[in-house]
Amino acid sequence: HAKQTGKDSFQLFTPEIGEALRQRLALEQDMRDGLGQDQFCLFYQPQYDAQRRIQGLEALARWRHPERGWVAPVEFIPVAENSGLIVELGLVLLAVLRRDLDGLRAQGLTCPPVAVNLSWEQCRKPLHRERFLQQLKTLRLGPGEVEFELTESAGFEDIDKPDSFVFTLQGLGYGLAIDDFGTGYSSLAYLRRIRCRKLKIDRLFVHGLSASADSRTLVESMVRVAHAMRMVVVAEGVELPADEAALIAMGCDLMQGFGFCKPLAPQQMAELLGAAQA
Ligand code: C2E
Ligand code: MG
Ligand code: MG
Ligand code: MG
Repeated sequence: HAKQTGKDSFQLFTPEIGEALRQRLALEQDMRDGLGQDQFCLFYQPQYDAQRRIQGLEALARWRHPERGWVAPVEFIPVAENSGLIVELGLVLLAVLRRDLDGLRAQGLTCPPVAVNLSWEQCRKPLHRERFLQQLKTLRLGPGEVEFELTESAGFEDIDKPDSFVFTLQGLGYGLAIDDFGTGYSSLAYLRRIRCRKLKIDRLFVHGLSASADSRTLVESMVRVAHAMRMVVVAEGVELPADEAALIAMGCDLMQGFGFCKPLAPQQMAELLGAAQA
């Protein structure tokens, strides 16, 4: 009946919204089915220092949908977050990580620390936190092997509570990185509330910075603030050699981006590490 109330009121059931909702629900159902069927995996993108040595990896979720092929995380992570499936997905991805790390070890390779992305929806409820910690323990994923990346988001007030999951993870020795710094909710207020090991500057500021005085000033300031707070600075989305040079000149510690390497499937990652460690 929303449609009959005139053009100034909300049109709750327009065909477009109906279609978007239908697609979302379908994706959600596919995800629920796919979680038990080994459809989710991780790709790995290396982080490089100024000497172009690999110092870390970021694990990025991928979904091989039986009909649609590869689905990007920008499409399925929000669906997972809104439906609560992110909790189950997070646990599944930790198991995938364990399997991949064992695979690397079986090939005689040493793996640098792997950064796992964590959504706030995974950290909110005590039961979910407990299951996550239990999974880390069961899989023997310790602070030497994994760290976590977080983006500030709404609902972040939780951070003021001493039992906050962030502090629990830090108390266990896990390193934390602030992801996408400078965008959305990831702000200076965040830096004051938690002491993280790493700060990841969003690619919005990084891409093309060598040619933009404003971006250069902003990134330079972020590097200075982060270093003053004893954080390691990671630049995301480094694509251009000129940007790499500018970042190194500014003292940026680590760089990640297509200019160095795209996210790789585990076996490709093994080959890359193998070549570097030969
Ligand atoms: P993010 O954590 O900021 O990850 C970086 C994204 O930037 C990745 O996209 C990566 O492929 C992309 N990227 C890397 N280098 C470049 C570059 O040089 N240029 C450009 N244009 N892009 C670059 P991806 O893999 O599609 O992931 C998107 C987002 O999805 C991630 O952003 C993260 O927020 C979320 N995500 C991915 N995996 C997971 C996961 O396992 N759990 C959770 N909770 N979120 C995840
Ligand atoms: Mg990330
Ligand atoms: Mg990021
Ligand atoms: Mg992001």
